[in-house]
Amino acid sequence: MDILAKYDGLAERRDLMLEAGANPFGLRMEKVLSPTEALVNGRRTLLVGTNNYLGLTFDPHCIAAGVKALQEQGTGTTGSRIANGSYALHEALEEAIARFLKRKSAIVWPTGYQANLGMIAGLAGPGDTILLDADSHSSIYDGCRLSGATLVRFRHNDPADLDKRLARLRRQGAAENGALLVIVEGIYSMLGDIAPLPEFVEVKDRHGAFLLVDEAHSLGVMGVCGRGVAEAQGIEAGVDFLAGTFSKSLGAIGGFGVSDHPHFERLRYCSRPYMFTASASPASIATVIAAIERIEQEPGLIKQLWRNAEALHSGLAAEGFEIAAPVSPVVAVKLPDERLAVAFWNALLQAGIYVNLAVPPGTPNNSCLMRCSVSAAHTPEQIQGVVRTFVEVREALDASAPAS
Ligand code: PMP
Repeated sequence: MDILAKYDGLAERRDLMLEAGANPFGLRMEKVLSPTEALVNGRRTLLVGTNNYLGLTFDPHCIAAGVKALQEQGTGTTGSRIANGSYALHEALEEAIARFLKRKSAIVWPTGYQANLGMIAGLAGPGDTILLDADSHSSIYDGCRLSGATLVRFRHNDPADLDKRLARLRRQGAAENGALLVIVEGIYSMLGDIAPLPEFVEVKDRHGAFLLVDEAHSLGVMGVCGRGVAEAQGIEAGVDFLAGTFSKSLGAIGGFGVSDHPHFERLRYCSRPYMFTASASPASIATVIAAIERIEQEPGLIKQLWRNAEALHSGLAAEGFEIAAPVSPVVAVKLPDERLAVAFWNALLQAGIYVNLAVPPGTPNNSCLMRCSVSAAHTPEQIQGVVRTFVEVREALDASAPAS
């Protein structure tokens, strides 16, 4: 049997999209012009799906820091930190993150995906039990598998369901044989809904479990200082471990974990995704340090992001679009089926607007979404243009739909 035959079904779905003129998972940007614009198919295209929440990818301070590190320290580290050693920059970044998030320790991984693998598989092992929100990101699921711990899923954003499952597990003796680790996200990546952390903290404390929150989409986005949902909801002390990425609001690449746990540093020699991969390059580390400084110096960036998020959310809602969640910088417009979603996505791109096409199995509840991510760098005119184009595309598709 052909080793790749298992993907025939997926390949057929992709071929159907290509026949419809859309290649949503293979966008090619000929030139990136700014945090919000790129040349796509020769056309100036507005980027509304790149998680560039604070628009820092072209920030002069971040670029200068990256160029300096590249020139002074070279293109790469050519190995892992346990084999080749740490650059002073890696340690400076870990100090900057720990300071920014007001935690005792921070550990950096080369990507956010690896940070989740490394945190989860470092913290939990065979004998432990992980309880994870059913809508968790793939990196969380993969980290759980790598850990070898027992996995229990609870209903999305449902502390009462978590409570029930923890009670059952404890009755079965799970807490005597190993540790209990609860994992949730801050802002959820697909729908843009937000975890009720105080309720989760109350439940996990009552059952003696630990809590890990992935703030990938909320770092630099929520809270007055940008420390995430835990800051915004005033519950930082209740969160035992926090993971995140540099690839969204910080405009770079890499990931991290932080904690006040006295033995957190053990992950440096117990977490395989930390030990057996090359460390992040000097240039990317330096841009992240600079981006953290920008957030610390300019809280107005976060305010601007939320003004834009509010404008896009209320503008689309006023035009009758169904939006998956209350206001956040992830604005996910629900469409009834995949065929319409592909056509809608394609028409938006033809009109010069790039959003994410999000379809099953990558979405909760089999929803089909035009997933928009807002940036502080979007202008009010650009946001109004997105709303206008959504309306025009809907009208054009309605007009071309066969009468039933
Ligand atoms: N966690 C969540 C919730 C994410 O959405 C993502 C990326 N989409 C990651 C982790 C992985 O981060 P990165 O892309 O920086 O590896």
